[in-house]
Amino acid sequence: MLLKSQHFLSHLSRAFAALFLLLVSGAAWAQTSPVPPASTTPQSSRPNVETPKPATAISYSAVHVDGPFIAMTFDDGPSEKLTPELLDILAAHHIHATFFVIGENAERAPQIVQRAVKEGHEIGNHSWSHPAFAKMSDPAVRRELQKTDDVIHAAIGHSPVLLRPPYGSITARQKQWIHAEFGYRIILWDVDPLDWKRPGPSVVESRIVRQTRPGSIILSHDIHPGTIKAMPETFDKLQAKGFKFVTVSELIAMGKPMAPLETGPENTNPSPSSAASMSPSATPSPSLTNP
Ligand SMILES: [Zn+2]
Repeated sequence: MLLKSQHFLSHLSRAFAALFLLLVSGAAWAQTSPVPPASTTPQSSRPNVETPKPATAISYSAVHVDGPFIAMTFDDGPSEKLTPELLDILAAHHIHATFFVIGENAERAPQIVQRAVKEGHEIGNHSWSHPAFAKMSDPAVRRELQKTDDVIHAAIGHSPVLLRPPYGSITARQKQWIHAEFGYRIILWDVDPLDWKRPGPSVVESRIVRQTRPGSIILSHDIHPGTIKAMPETFDKLQAKGFKFVTVSELIAMGKPMAPLETGPENTNPSPSSAASMSPSATPSPSLTNP
């Protein structure tokens, strides 16, 4: 970062303001709550940094980050056969991922969930039996979440903080009460290789590599052999492009407000390509045929 010395103090104070806003608001780009660019707007056009306060983001399909960070996610496991193979591949590439586990599977193989956490991965809730929440009653959704939360807690000693609703099926109202009751953030995705259709490892790899941007949350499933076969080359290619893998919670913690559209003389250091590449149009339209 190059700062002209005469502007250093103002940059410094704005950096602290940005940090403060980030801490108090959990501000990050999220599909449901665009964040006003207060912290990077030039002083002259920013009469009041305190208002409007960005709503706390509870739902993400990607995160606006200032750097080449991405989160790889694996749903529907653990698979007693495939997930350990995947953990070996992740370890060999020094990559931390996020596993959205199904409660039924986690109960059957808690030792795999434990191993994943021990090796630096994050565990999220993906329901007990993989139903589509949007069509369900609140008590039925609550049972799906609580049973899975209990199994994860029993395996790793703490509850998850993330939920991926099966099929991405969830209403705005459900997001609100689930976040209020369980404290979960709702995690969707912006990269979908459709690996559940089993198109073959090279197709899975090329779709992921082509679609991934800074801040991407990549969907895949550790229950399909072709997905596991695709991963070594996928990881090689993404790392060769300079991407760095973090867990979803780490990615969210790196979230920044969106860069301002206008560029004044004070804005000598706008965030790079990530702002332009992250478009709300990347919001997924999950298909109910997706396992
Ligand atoms: Zn799933």
